[in-house]
Amino acid sequence: MSWLKRIFGIQLTPPERAIVLYVRCDRCQSTVSVRVDRYNDLAIEYNEREVEVGFVVNKPIMDTKCFRVMQATLTFDTHRIEQSRTISGGAFIDEATYRALQPTP
Ligand SMILES: [Zn+2]
Repeated sequence: MSWLKRIFGIQLTPPERAIVLYVRCDRCQSTVSVRVDRYNDLAIEYNEREVEVGFVVNKPIMDTKCFRVMQATLTFDTHRIEQSRTISGGAFIDEATYRALQPTP
């Protein structure tokens, strides 16, 4: 049965479907989290020869304080593995920082 285990081992380790982005607005410093769905939100990207080179996501993110839109752009390879992320109008922060900045209920 080890061959079966190997096959399932491979099949059970795809990248997580949802990517959570934590961002902080440059203007009002408030924080927002948004989800990117690796299967629904990605748009195929082609090179100049119309060959599929990967995926891209352009995600507008709005905070709830100053309502300015920040624009996040993520790129992925053909296996939907993240290659880069950039954002204008804000900055990416890590999950721990995001959690630490949330008001306590
Ligand atoms: Zn803001």
